[in-house]
Amino acid sequence: MKLYTYCKHCKEEINVTTKASDRGSLQMKHGDHLDLKCEECNGMNNKHVNDIKAEIKYSSLFVALGISILVTLILWFFIGAISTLSLSIPLLYWKIQSDTIHKFNSYMVRRKPI
Ligand SMILES: [Zn+2]
Repeated sequence: MKLYTYCKHCKEEINVTTKASDRGSLQMKHGDHLDLKCEECNGMNNKHVNDIKAEIKYSSLFVALGISILVTLILWFFIGAISTLSLSIPLLYWKIQSDTIHKFNSYMVRRKPI
């Protein structure tokens, strides 16, 4: 899962690096607002946790797909067609990721009045 938001100065994407798996724990770790530095314009952004969006990390999905194809090919020589079951690993990974992303994006923290 990739967390990102947009820079208020140059509208470029800012990646948020955290181990938090949902918005609630993101808020617990960093508070209501996160100070994020834009890599493009070096501008500082103060973003509310609700402004952070989650998206599937395609790079790790492709890695999982690559590994499973490799494992399938190797296992093919030993166990035959049943080895194609290992192709379900990236599907399972994708399912878990999309559930986590849906959970992250659908849960919003209550904004406190300023
Ligand atoms: Zn920027």
